[in-house]
Formats: sequence, C-alpha cells, structure tokens
Amino acid sequence: MSDDNCIFCNIASGQDAATKLEIETDEFVVFRDIKPAYTHHYLAVPKEHYANLKTLNKSHEGLVTRMEEGLKRFLEEKGISETDALFGFHLPPFITVGHLHMHAIAPRSEMGFLSRMIFKTTNDARLYLRSKED
Ligand SMILES: [Zn+2]
Ligand SMILES: [Zn+2]
Repeated sequence: MSDDNCIFCNIASGQDAATKLEIETDEFVVFRDIKPAYTHHYLAVPKEHYANLKTLNKSHEGLVTRMEEGLKRFLEEKGISETDALFGFHLPPFITVGHLHMHAIAPRSEMGFLSRMIFKTTNDARLYLRSKED
C-alpha cells in the first residue's frame, strides 16, 4: 500500500519531479538524499510502504540485501569506494521519514563517531530480521 502523504512513496512511484531516480527496480529505487549530509549520500527506498525495520520480518532479509547490492553497484559505477562507505538504517529516534530507507554514505571515514552510532548497519539489520518470527 502506498500513502499519498508519504514523501518516499511519492518519490518511489516517480511522482516527485524534483527527485532524480538513479536506480529503479521492481522492488526499490535509489536516489540522492534530499538533504545530503555527506559528500556521497544516497538512499535505497522500497516501493512498498514499510514504516521501519520493526515492521519487517524474516522474509525481508533478501530485500535488505538487494537494496544494499543496488547501492553498492551504484557507488561502484560512480567510482566511489564501497569499502569506505556506510550502509545502514537510522535508529529510532533519529528516523526522520516514516518509510523504510537504507542510507549509503561515503566516505565513512569522514563521519564522526556519534554520526556512525545512530545507524544500524545492514549486517545488524539482517541479524535482527533473522531473529524474528515469520
Ligand atoms: Zn511511504
Ligand atoms: Zn534515515
């Protein structure tokens, strides 16, 4: 279900003319963060409206992996090192948009310690989903 009042639903369905979609698959889109905080700051956003990681279950582990792979492929094409990049989800209460989104930030070494702490990495997200019931 998409929500007309959700900015990421609008972007993911291509309705926001101001946002350029860098990648579009059946499942998700990739675009530059609306308020980029780092040199390279992109988001992968599922087309389906999920509020956050808590609303996902085991069956979504593959989605998380495919979103991460999409972001990695995109960085690679732009010649940005993925080894010095952070892939993760904002932890509550630092979530600013209530539609699940994965951040790709590079270079990671440019981020302060505290900035890194407010993200759950994709690996942690997968472990978390694996620990949930279906
Ligand atoms: Zn949404
Ligand atoms: Zn976020």
